[in-house]
Amino acid sequence: MKTIIEPFKIKSVEPIRLTTPAEREARLREAAYNVFLLKAEDVLIDLLTDSGTAAMSAEQWASIMRGDEAYAGSRSWFRFLAAVQDIFGFSQVLPTHQGRAAEKILFATLCKPGDVVPNNTHFDTTRANVEYTGARAVDLVIPEGRQPQTRHPFKGNMDVAALERLIAEVGRERIPVCMLTITNNSGGGQPVSLANARAVSAVCRKHGIPLYIDACRFAENAWFIRLREEGQSHRAPLDIARELFSLADGCTMSAKKDGMANIGGFLATNDARLAVDQQNLLILTEGFPTYGGLAGRDLDAIATGLYEALDPDYLLYRITSTTYLGEHISAAGVPIVQPPGGHAIYIDAAAFLPHLKPLDLPGQALVVELYREAGIRAVEIGTLMFGRRDPETGQEHPAPMELVRLAVPRRVYTQSHIDYVVEGILAIWNKRDAVRGYHITEQAPFLRHFTAKLAPRT
Ligand SMILES: *Cc1c(COP(=O)(O)O)cnc(C)c1O
Repeated sequence: MKTIIEPFKIKSVEPIRLTTPAEREARLREAAYNVFLLKAEDVLIDLLTDSGTAAMSAEQWASIMRGDEAYAGSRSWFRFLAAVQDIFGFSQVLPTHQGRAAEKILFATLCKPGDVVPNNTHFDTTRANVEYTGARAVDLVIPEGRQPQTRHPFKGNMDVAALERLIAEVGRERIPVCMLTITNNSGGGQPVSLANARAVSAVCRKHGIPLYIDACRFAENAWFIRLREEGQSHRAPLDIARELFSLADGCTMSAKKDGMANIGGFLATNDARLAVDQQNLLILTEGFPTYGGLAGRDLDAIATGLYEALDPDYLLYRITSTTYLGEHISAAGVPIVQPPGGHAIYIDAAAFLPHLKPLDLPGQALVVELYREAGIRAVEIGTLMFGRRDPETGQEHPAPMELVRLAVPRRVYTQSHIDYVVEGILAIWNKRDAVRGYHITEQAPFLRHFTAKLAPRT
């Protein structure tokens, strides 16, 4: 059989409703052409993010019911601890309400002003948490990782020679930690190879620099290793994941991704002395060390979800369905970041709408069009999100790339939903010359894309 099916049947359904074109036009106007301001119920297919949007399994819902809400030492905590230690292998585990809380605690206990933290590519919350300590966040992804059209099996790899150069340049004492993000979210969900992780680990160990993995999509990364790396095709994703983490000294994790949960995360480390300081901060900001900002039921659902994310049947379906979306639109000529990543497809909106200049916000124009045409919600990763306005002159500086991300929630949509998304994108592709640009009419000083108001260019 050649069709790869969803490896589950559906026990509980959540209705979605297609609005009329007139309704969508009205909703867009009310939201000032910013899809973050839409009501979710007015969205048909929601590809805004894969974070916290997974459908939980029957076993996870059973875990929710099993959740032990004891303040200290609950059974759910011990199930969570056992799962994390079994898969990730680190001795010290601190539960947090999501990934960024783990990052906050890690960098607060390791970094000081003047320090430098290398990463293949810092995710935005990771960068913000590094910079908040006064340290500098440096992205060292391989050059292919910065070229949208270049194909490479492991575009998330770190440039190991660049890491060596950075260490020689700033000195080992100024690098309190090195991070490796698997998969590389900001770089398009591109994986890191086992060989690269081994090489980065060897450099870090040679210099005595702790290596931490940003583990959010560790299971998807393990699947790509099995699929694409020589000599790995026989290995279970769990086995590959264990080897990856054995190369590191700790990790940060958002359970909203490959934890298959709607909330949660953790910080893990083998450094028992550091963990004491981290636990003190955890108590201050998250909660008692056996729940850390989560309910017992959340800990329990994550303990179950971490293993489900490593199930080969699930991973085959997961990566195949994301690739299916990418290949079907790219076969029709739509320019995307190649090859398709694990959790999302990124459309190159600058190439899709070449008649629009960066300050006409081509990515946002495409996002608006996707909702107008088909009720699909995507997110712009371009000048609206990363452009800068000079506070003195009011001059706008465009972002380096104009992308639209279609993030696929885990286990939520079926192939016919994905086919519908393909049709919606191709309908716009066929009339792309008529798509108009947008400009910002109101914006906040930070993270403006969340609340900005926009208007069509006339
Ligand atoms: C989502 C994410 C984070 C932050 O996790 P939250 O749970 O959203 O706080 C950190 N790193 C990467 C790579 C992510 O994708």
